Parts: sequence; C-alpha cells; structure tokens
Amino acid sequence: MRPLPLIGTLLLAVGCTPAGSGQVVPVAPPASSCAPLAVVDSIGLMRDVSRLADDSMRGRLFGSTEAIRARDYLAARFDEVGLATVGSGRTHEFPVTSTRDGITRAWNVVGMVRGTERPDEYIVVTAHYDHIGVGRPVAGDSIYNGADDNASGAAALVALARMLVAEPPRHTVIFAAVDGEERGMWGSRHFVESPTVPRDQILVNVNMDMIGRNAANELYAAGPGRYPSLAPLVEATAVCAQVTLRMGHDTPAAGPGNDWTSQSDHASFHRRGIPFVYFGEEDHPDYHRPGDSSDRLMPAFYVGSVRTVAAFIRRFDNTPVARTTP
Ligand SMILES: [Zn+2]
Repeated sequence: MRPLPLIGTLLLAVGCTPAGSGQVVPVAPPASSCAPLAVVDSIGLMRDVSRLADDSMRGRLFGSTEAIRARDYLAARFDEVGLATVGSGRTHEFPVTSTRDGITRAWNVVGMVRGTERPDEYIVVTAHYDHIGVGRPVAGDSIYNGADDNASGAAALVALARMLVAEPPRHTVIFAAVDGEERGMWGSRHFVESPTVPRDQILVNVNMDMIGRNAANELYAAGPGRYPSLAPLVEATAVCAQVTLRMGHDTPAAGPGNDWTSQSDHASFHRRGIPFVYFGEEDHPDYHRPGDSSDRLMPAFYVGSVRTVAAFIRRFDNTPVARTTP
C-alpha cells in the first residue's frame, strides 16, 4: 500500500492541540489508571510473521502458489485459535478479472468470534496478506518479503483473534485476511460488496497495514478525520498505549500523498460509508523493497502496536459509537 513518499506531513499528537512553533499542548490528562494491557501471544505473533515473510513465500504475489500457501497457513491458524467460520467457510473464494496477469480467482480467509450481547452487530478487522513477489534485485536480494507490508497485519489478526476467543466481545468480531490489496484491494472490495453479513450492521472496520516497525515508536490511527465520533475512542486508547498513537493522514489537509484514506483496504469500507480506523506507520526506507524482511521488524514496537489495536477494539466494543456519515 501507499505508493507515494511522505513529505512535509503535519503531525498532530493524539490528545494534543497545536500551539504554534511546533509545540503541542496536551488536552487529555494522563490516565490515572489504565486497564491491563492485552495479553498478546508475542511468541506466536513473531513466528507467524516470520513464516509469512519467509523467503520460501517469495513475496506472496497475488495469484501465486506462495500466496495460496500463505492463505492456507492463515486458515490453519484461524482454525487453531478457535475462530468460528462465516458464510461459505474458512476461505471465501471470489472471481477477479485482473487483466494485468490473467488472475481469475482469489481468496479471503475469514473467521469470527460471536458477540455475547449484540451478536448481530459487527466489528470487522482486516489485513491484507498478499504482497508484490520477486522483483528487481537490490543489494543482491530480489525477494520482496513484505514482513511489515503486510505480514505484520496478517499475523496480528491471529493474535487478536486468540485474545478475543479467550474473552469474547459484546459485539461479533469478524477477522478477514484479505487478498489482492497490492493489485487493487480485490479482497476487501469483495468483502464489502458481497458481504456475508448485512452491510448496514457493520459498525466499524479496523484495518492494519504495516504495523511492525517504526524507529520513533509512532503508530497512526487514521480515520477519525473522516469519522470524528471515533476520535475520543482513539484519544482514550492513546493515553494508555505502549506506542505513541497519533491521529492524522486521513483528510485532504494532510497534503498530496499523505491522506491515507484510499491507500489500503479500509477504503473499500469507507466507500460504502462504513467508519474505519486504519492502524499503520509512516513509510520506511524498505517500503516495497527487498529489505522489508522479518529481521528488520522491531518486536517491541510491533507487540506494542498489536496491543494498541487490541485496546482500541475492546474500547470500541464496550462503547460503540453510532455510525455517522462523513
Ligand atoms: Zn500493504
């Protein structure tokens, strides 16, 4: 995702307002107490991300044998952590007409945890599992492993699913590892346009794409700029987060290339007026390069990101906001 470099981004700290000269003034008091951080299976998380980004996966190119292996790996992990199936089963096959490479079918991997109180209202958590395959050699390597983009998000689905199975949410949470993002968001588009649950009962999309490395320990939650009612939930999540959680990159005011609204799978939901929160970091030098490999992930940041997404999901589940139109 995100083909454009990020230059001159205006950064607004969560819970802060700009005060000129680059200063920020906190408007939210520090939390006097935070709920315990989510228990994330960090060993399983690192194992899953390493497997998905292994050289043997050859960059999980859309339509490739290796992308199908990634699909099957995730399907097995969804089974192992105990996710229920949705609709036609664990993998949802759908037709595509990718004129560029003649691909005719693709698959989303889908599972759910049924809500205990409002099972007919849905939180849909997404991350794409495809990447861009093998390409031009850079520094002797030509496999574009896509560890951060987006094995990090796909592996996080499993960790979050495991957490919610252990302690079920009030609303039903659907997990979808979606296919073909790098070729035009085929999987998320299919999920939204041919939904297996009523589209108007989807409360929010939580999308993860590139959450595994950031030297500044900064994670963005984009979306509240389009759906302001989500902002208080993000702000409250930020106060207790292990990473620096920021809002932004979600309106034209961010500048050309810096508005991420249409740059990953949440765009498919937004197009239908479904609120989204997209978690991701700003680009790094290995973005869409062979250097986006597992050994360059930052485990402490990555686990902190997953815990932050977990905290947001819990907070939303406990205090959902009404769907609003942008
Ligand atoms: Zn991506």
